[in-house]
Amino acid sequence: MKRITHWIDGKPFSGDGERRGKVFDPATGVQSGEVGFASVAEVDEAVTAAKAAFPAWRATSLAKRTTILFALRELIAKHSSDLADLIVSEHGKVKSDAAGEVARGLEVVEYACGIAHLMKGEFSENVSTGVNVHSVRQPLGVVAGITPFNFPAMVPMWMFPLAIATGNTFVLKPSEKDPSASILLAELTAEAGVPQGVLNVVQGDRVAVDRILTHPDVAAVSFVGSTSIARHIYETAAREGKRVQALGGAKNHMVVLPNADLAAAAEAAVSAGFGSAGERCMAASVLVAVGGCGDELVSRIHERVNRLTVGPGTDARSEMGPLVTSEHRDKVVSYLGIGEAEGAKIAIDGRDHDISGEPGGYWLGPCLIDNVTEDMKVYIDEIFGPVLSLVRVDSLEDAIGLIHRNGYGNGAAIFTNDGGAAQLFETEVDAGMVGINVAIPVPVAYYSFGGWNSSLFGDLHVYGPDGVKFYTKGKAVTSRWQNIGQHHSSLNFPTNAPTDRATAQGK
Ligand code: NAD
Repeated sequence: MKRITHWIDGKPFSGDGERRGKVFDPATGVQSGEVGFASVAEVDEAVTAAKAAFPAWRATSLAKRTTILFALRELIAKHSSDLADLIVSEHGKVKSDAAGEVARGLEVVEYACGIAHLMKGEFSENVSTGVNVHSVRQPLGVVAGITPFNFPAMVPMWMFPLAIATGNTFVLKPSEKDPSASILLAELTAEAGVPQGVLNVVQGDRVAVDRILTHPDVAAVSFVGSTSIARHIYETAAREGKRVQALGGAKNHMVVLPNADLAAAAEAAVSAGFGSAGERCMAASVLVAVGGCGDELVSRIHERVNRLTVGPGTDARSEMGPLVTSEHRDKVVSYLGIGEAEGAKIAIDGRDHDISGEPGGYWLGPCLIDNVTEDMKVYIDEIFGPVLSLVRVDSLEDAIGLIHRNGYGNGAAIFTNDGGAAQLFETEVDAGMVGINVAIPVPVAYYSFGGWNSSLFGDLHVYGPDGVKFYTKGKAVTSRWQNIGQHHSSLNFPTNAPTDRATAQGK
């Protein structure tokens, strides 16, 4: 049985092993490994290592850090297939999708390679006679990241490359469901030359998370996961005086206007709704058909789903893999019954889909629930599986209103051939990331990723320019190196009035 360890101070760390979790292959339902759950003392060990590594790492030149980041970029690219294999074996998504996840994470490492430019401050000469002002950004110290199961490589890479590039040291607590990718990433950082203690990984559950949230030496916490836990993280870490960004769940709407290319829209809805078995925070989970285009969308989706191959992620023919655990699969399936009882129609029932995999896997084929209304539980809850709800509305304004009343605000997309409608949608829609004829509008790494409302607690989004800001604090320096002894002492703030200026100039 594979034993998955922590990674502390530059090496694997087994810990006391008293508390452990099981790791499964979702395509077979067979246990593949066992992961140690960190105790409070083990989290403390990781934070101590990170704290000890901070002074030297912070003092490491930007040139040296950049060299290391370029080496890390090369190593992750070289091992992207190995990372993808680990993701497939513990998460279940298909290999091509897992490779895409690694590529999107790698983009953040590439962005972090430009850290020398990103850390540049500003300078103003002669703000007062002989006085200059400049600003710098400095690291926070030990920062932590807590990540979800659905992107076991990409979401950690949303965080740690920029956190360490900016001079911090990092403690990562990945999901206990698919913990192996984080250990390979840690090994690669060590091989790239990241000094020991700069990146640490503690595996585990709530015990580890709660210790991170209250540890006095942890300066900031980045979290990505479900909304209820995000709220807990935000409230607890903020109360403890930490900087915090906590990204939560989502209910992303994809609006289709009747003037859209309906074939392309249906294709996009299948890809965005059922890719990664719907276990993406940017998955399209509500399809909003405007002005009577619903029936055509349903028939086109039906036609595509009939040809969709559901099977193990290791099989190159599979387009969609299993769900992550049997409990999660059962919960997702329960929404079909809930939807029916609420009066919606199960237009496509994924329980009947042909599966080309082991019977013990956590399978569910693509599902479409039609005639969903705003008051239904299937509309309100984040289902986080291959279940697309279809809501029919009369107008674009109705669609925007629907999205506005929904508690989440991660992504929203519109499919249309009308530029004016797209512009109105972009301006009015209540979401942090918007797609126009793009169903999953995840920003590239040189923008930042984040939602609104219950999809993000905190101010700053992850990665990109917001990531640099989150992991650094600003400092403004006012300096005088000329005529130091010649200014007149005054107890007043300078007013910049003409007389003051004349006095300052010795007139
Ligand atoms: P989760 O909230 O269950 O777990 C996330 C992390 O929190 C894990 O590391 C887990 O170990 C830890 N955790 C779980 N319960 C906890 C508790 N009671 N106290 C402290 N820590 C706890 O989320 P998940 O099921 O792993 O991931 C799926 C969720 O993540 C979905 O809601 C999805 O929308 C969301 N997500 C959001 C984004 C985003 O960018 N907004 C991205 C990916 C996933």
